[in-house]
Amino acid sequence: MVWADLILTAKDKLAKNIIMVIGDGMGPAYTTGYRYYMDNINTPQVETTIFDKLLTGMVSTYPVNSQGYVTDSAAAATALSTGYKTYNGAIGVDVNKKPLLTLMERAKQLGKKTGLVVTSQINHATPAAYFSHNESRKNYNEIADSYFDDKINGHFKANLMLGGGSKYFIRPDRNLVSEFKQADFQYIDDLSKLTSLNKQQPVLGLFAEVGLPWTLDNKNENHLLAMAKAGVRHLENNEGYVLLVEASQIDWAGHSNDIAAAMAEMQDLAETLTWLKNYVENRDDTLLVATADHSTGGLTLGANGDYRWQPEFLKNLTASPKSIATKLAHQNTAISAQQLTDALGFIITDQEANLFIGRSDEKSIYEQIKLLIDSRTNTGWTSGGHTGIDVQVFATGNGAKAFNRHQTNTDIAKQLFLVLEGN
Ligand SMILES: [Zn+2]
Repeated sequence: MVWADLILTAKDKLAKNIIMVIGDGMGPAYTTGYRYYMDNINTPQVETTIFDKLLTGMVSTYPVNSQGYVTDSAAAATALSTGYKTYNGAIGVDVNKKPLLTLMERAKQLGKKTGLVVTSQINHATPAAYFSHNESRKNYNEIADSYFDDKINGHFKANLMLGGGSKYFIRPDRNLVSEFKQADFQYIDDLSKLTSLNKQQPVLGLFAEVGLPWTLDNKNENHLLAMAKAGVRHLENNEGYVLLVEASQIDWAGHSNDIAAAMAEMQDLAETLTWLKNYVENRDDTLLVATADHSTGGLTLGANGDYRWQPEFLKNLTASPKSIATKLAHQNTAISAQQLTDALGFIITDQEANLFIGRSDEKSIYEQIKLLIDSRTNTGWTSGGHTGIDVQVFATGNGAKAFNRHQTNTDIAKQLFLVLEGN
């Protein structure tokens, strides 16, 4: 066996079910930041988070050599789903663009149910690398088509798909939603329907044209949590299941250098992990593994030589910085200090409000809002892209101890294949 160096260290029985969780872009600065963001300032100690409780090991994320050590989400997800390092942009294919067997495909061959729950479009790089094969992550329509066209022993690869992306599934040239419906899938486009799914039928749930709204703009139950609960309940069966859960938009917040949005996405993931931990620890047949594909934005907690990070300024925003910017861009009057104070939840001076003079488009207002938030919280960023720092792995349940070490991302896949083969 190629991965004979990997030993199952856990004495407990092999998991029947695997829940793989990915925080896209969630490097260690994000889990650390989340701890301080959640800290109760009325107690002397800094409270631990779900990430602290589940922390198991570290993971290097580099793609194939010669790529400069910094991965994109496609190469990282392919590594995590197949056990092979590949080039940036690759979806479930090797460096020669040849398809690689994915964890989900193997699970399906073995008669298990499979599913995906993401806050991006369901054909985005991470979920695609578990369920599809394509030379480029940018071929969104082809990837969407493959979800319907490609089968394993005559079966669809996924029993459950929840996330965004209706614009890729309902197109002028092809309506995949009606094709799925004709193939006996139940289709939902409203999150409130998640609690009344028919367990006998596979599910396609698309709740947005592309990605789901920011957590900061959502007043209901957090999206990832709601979808993950429904996914687990729907997939439970005697043969077992493999479920991918991705907090996709931590990465998008990182690319935008938007610390407020990032921490709110982290909160949705933390609540999801808390629920999943409890679910897994109340049974004896399930493995929960969570990691990140890479870190995004070069986030630092503290910046510019100043020894402080003050996440309390992120606590009273009335909406996401992006939505606040959109609203302000659509008014006819000048942006006032009072308006900004009301929207951001901390006091903005007239001098600071003057920085918005001449900014009338959404993008430039959004940039200025983020600068204000960064300066209050003293948050730093070094990039609008990814960085090559190692990420963490978190685990609980049957076989969790196997991840208790430093590993590279392909080792995680190899270990999960071992779990599948052991059944
Ligand atoms: Zn990214």
